Amino acid sequence: MSLEKGGIIKHDISKSPKTGDWAYSKPQVDKDKCIGCETCVQYCPDACIEMVKHKKDIKKKADIDYDFCKGCGVCAQVCPVKAIVMKK
Ligand code: SF4
Ligand code: SF4
Repeated sequence: MSLEKGGIIKHDISKSPKTGDWAYSKPQVDKDKCIGCETCVQYCPDACIEMVKHKKDIKKKADIDYDFCKGCGVCAQVCPVKAIVMKK
């Protein structure tokens, strides 16, 4: 399977494996720190981060879908303002 198909799989939920309770850690986004740069979206290997605009926000902020997040920690590593923290 090519990388491109892997990226698309999320859009067909019936083909996409959900993360089990084996996940060791979860990323948590500090919405006040997030500057909406979308770096984490580009690097997430599971394509499970979306940019969402909440009513009070001017910019869209990162929102993580925990049904598919594997807890790899890449998003926390690449965030330029350290807005993502991995919690056990
Ligand atoms: S921990 Fe990994 S899988 Fe989960 S949102 Fe971050 S980069 Fe994506
Ligand atoms: S990389 Fe950090 S600042 Fe950029 S959108 Fe993701 S959480 Fe927000």
